[in-house]
Amino acid sequence: MAANKRVLMLPGDGIGPEVMGEVRRLIDWMDRRRSVTFDVTEDLVGGVAYETHGAAISDNTMDLALNSDAVLFGAVGGPQWDNVGFDVRPEAGLLRLRKDMDLFANLRPAICFDALAQASSLKPELVGGLDILIVRELTGGVYFGEPRGIEDLPDGQRRGVNTQVYTTDEIRRVCRVAFDLATKRDNRVCSVEKMNVMESGILWREEATWVHENEFVDVELSHMLADNCGMQLVRSPKQFDVIVTDNLFGDMLSDVASMLTGSLGMLPSASLGPADGSGRRRALYEPVHGSAPDIAGQGKANPLAMIQSYAMMLRYSFDMSEDADLVERAVRNVLDSGLRTSDIMQTDMTAVSCEQMGEAVVMELDKLAA
Ligand code: NAD
Repeated sequence: MAANKRVLMLPGDGIGPEVMGEVRRLIDWMDRRRSVTFDVTEDLVGGVAYETHGAAISDNTMDLALNSDAVLFGAVGGPQWDNVGFDVRPEAGLLRLRKDMDLFANLRPAICFDALAQASSLKPELVGGLDILIVRELTGGVYFGEPRGIEDLPDGQRRGVNTQVYTTDEIRRVCRVAFDLATKRDNRVCSVEKMNVMESGILWREEATWVHENEFVDVELSHMLADNCGMQLVRSPKQFDVIVTDNLFGDMLSDVASMLTGSLGMLPSASLGPADGSGRRRALYEPVHGSAPDIAGQGKANPLAMIQSYAMMLRYSFDMSEDADLVERAVRNVLDSGLRTSDIMQTDMTAVSCEQMGEAVVMELDKLAA
């Protein structure tokens, strides 16, 4: 029996609890069939936490997050909290988790299942079998740099300022994550910046090269300007394996890459912090989508982004690649069998609810593990 693994589950608002319910089903299955026991604690985040504690995440919940091996996060937000104060709005809970856990590396895989290639805005042959990973720096760069603000100028105009700023350590640590992940994939990293117009881009390229030459010389490294990368992602996305880039470019490029795959309900993500002495990293796993208030409570949510985020947790926090592969294979087979939630529905396919999709994944796991 493997040692217990402490997981904090934060379902949040809207469809968050619905999609998290299907991960519960998988955790129970792992417990029964694979003898892997997770020590799961569930708590509040987002609007529901605001209603109970007056804050989007309580100090107590934050402590639980800092002391867990992994956090599984659903989604937060909803129109009923649109007018609450900036500091207590639901999204503030997620921002605090990212900041206090120092989650500097955001991993966004863009995988296009063959069964869904038709749903992409690109030709199926361009995206069928697509499997790329974007590693975005998440805690630095222009979103956090100082000085920032809006000031009044003497001539009556106003001026908005943000500062793109990166240090050696910030660049090296996220590049190390990207190189390390590449060694478990196709062994290729493309580092992306704008060194033609930005000094921070020159530094980024130099530091990525330093990490490559000094620590990961066996991994193939290429460099690309961010505007070209945006173009290449829609021209020929399969040329990439791992892309590593800063906060701003990563924000945009990961959204472009994710839409190649067709649906928001299919996209998982992971955010990793620094490794401690034993190599363990703080980590948070969440679907890319939000709380989808328009379909909440109707059983229509697609749980596959959340389920694949759970698979990422198995792989990156618990070194359980075999089990992660098993879950991902089950998802693939369920899609191949024609089951679809409404967001990915296609002609001649079978419409299922959130729960039915979760049940189908578990039944497929039973078959695969038999
Ligand atoms: P959203 O991702 O919640 O929804 C966008 C559209 O995609 C909606 O039509 C929704 O029904 C659909 N959709 C999303 N996930 C789906 C799923 N799993 N299955 C089926 N359909 C799905 O984005 P939004 O509408 O812009 O935001 C709604 C709320 O969520 C807002 O309060 C926003 O602030 C919040 N939000 C939270 C997060 C997060 O928690 N990380 C991320 C984005 C938005």
